[in-house]
Amino acid sequence: MASVLVVTEVSNGSIREASLELVSFARKVAESSGREVKSLVIGSGVEGVAGEFAGKGGGETLVVDTADAANYNVDVFKKAILAGVEAAGADIVLISNTPAGWDVAPRIAAALDCAFVSDCTNVEASGSSTTFTRRVFNGKLDAQLSVEGTAVATVQPGATEPFSGSSDGAATKLDADVSGARAKFVEVKQSESTGIDLTKADVVVSGGRGVGDPEKFTEVIQPLADALGGAMGASRPVVDAGWLPHAHQVGSSGQVVTPKLYVAAGISGAIQHLVGMKGSNYIVAINKDADAPIFEVADVGVVADLFEIVPALTEAASAAKG
Ligand SMILES: Cc1cc2nc3c(=O)[nH]c(=O)nc-3n(C[C@H](O)[C@H](O)[C@H](O)COP(=O)(O)OP(=O)(O)OC[C@H]3O[C@@H](n4cnc5c(N)ncnc54)[C@H](O)[C@@H]3O)c2cc1C
Repeated sequence: MASVLVVTEVSNGSIREASLELVSFARKVAESSGREVKSLVIGSGVEGVAGEFAGKGGGETLVVDTADAANYNVDVFKKAILAGVEAAGADIVLISNTPAGWDVAPRIAAALDCAFVSDCTNVEASGSSTTFTRRVFNGKLDAQLSVEGTAVATVQPGATEPFSGSSDGAATKLDADVSGARAKFVEVKQSESTGIDLTKADVVVSGGRGVGDPEKFTEVIQPLADALGGAMGASRPVVDAGWLPHAHQVGSSGQVVTPKLYVAAGISGAIQHLVGMKGSNYIVAINKDADAPIFEVADVGVVADLFEIVPALTEAASAAKG
């Protein structure tokens, strides 16, 4: 029987929650296409976590446990995944859309000479056909791509709930030849601390591309964050443009925050941003575009110009403090 293979990701000795999200999709695909769910764990000293994962939805779980995989190395991981695909008899391979995932996944597809779909938000199967959904045009449209036969896909973390059931299955060691890596792991460097820890703030006021320029963050967004006793966040384009340091970025490639209050001003609400803030207790969104996807997760949505609303909120918050 063909299988759908979940390629897990290990971080600080644990399997990331995003891998259980892959399991949710894999189970849905397996149910509707008659495939089996299998998983692959790659790392060093990971047999224990692989065994747990096998019972938490991973099913039959192959383990490549080698010192060479103690840290992510594209050459090692590519060889391990290809060995896993072969051993599992997989024709659908699901990988999280993380920096490691988007590095290795296209290489797996190229080596298998099969279809590759990146950054999916949904995966469904019907018979031999698998349909992948990805957001396009800043989240305004969903594109669906149907693939017949073998496919490798990366899946956006946060696109579905992590699988919370149990499964039959055990971890089995896979002897994969991962020698001959051309890339060499040197070291992990922590970014310098900027003194900002968004994850600990009770209130986060974030600005997006709609804020327009770096000065407006100082003049408009930071004052509201200060008036509410909170911290200032940002979407990725703000950080990419160099308007604010990366420590301010909220989202899949930034911080995941769960404050009591999250204010999003001039942020469209792309899935990569939503993943980082949708767990907030109360969300206020301010956007000129009534169709902006951010309103789908907002408790209060204000369709207006942020330059009118944010200063008014700052004034009201300052007045309330006295
Ligand atoms: C692999 C990958 C990882 C990513 N990681 C992240 C991540 O960690 N975090 C993240 O945020 N993004 C991330 N992105 C980018 C993401 O896909 C979006 O491009 C990004 O979130 C859009 O940022 P934005 O909402 O600020 O900008 P835009 O999408 O350009 O939206 C700007 C919004 O401002 C509104 N606006 C403009 N002027 C005003 C005004 N005066 N008043 C009110 N509203 C106004 C507009 O209507 C619009 O909705 C990632 C993308 C990829 C591919």
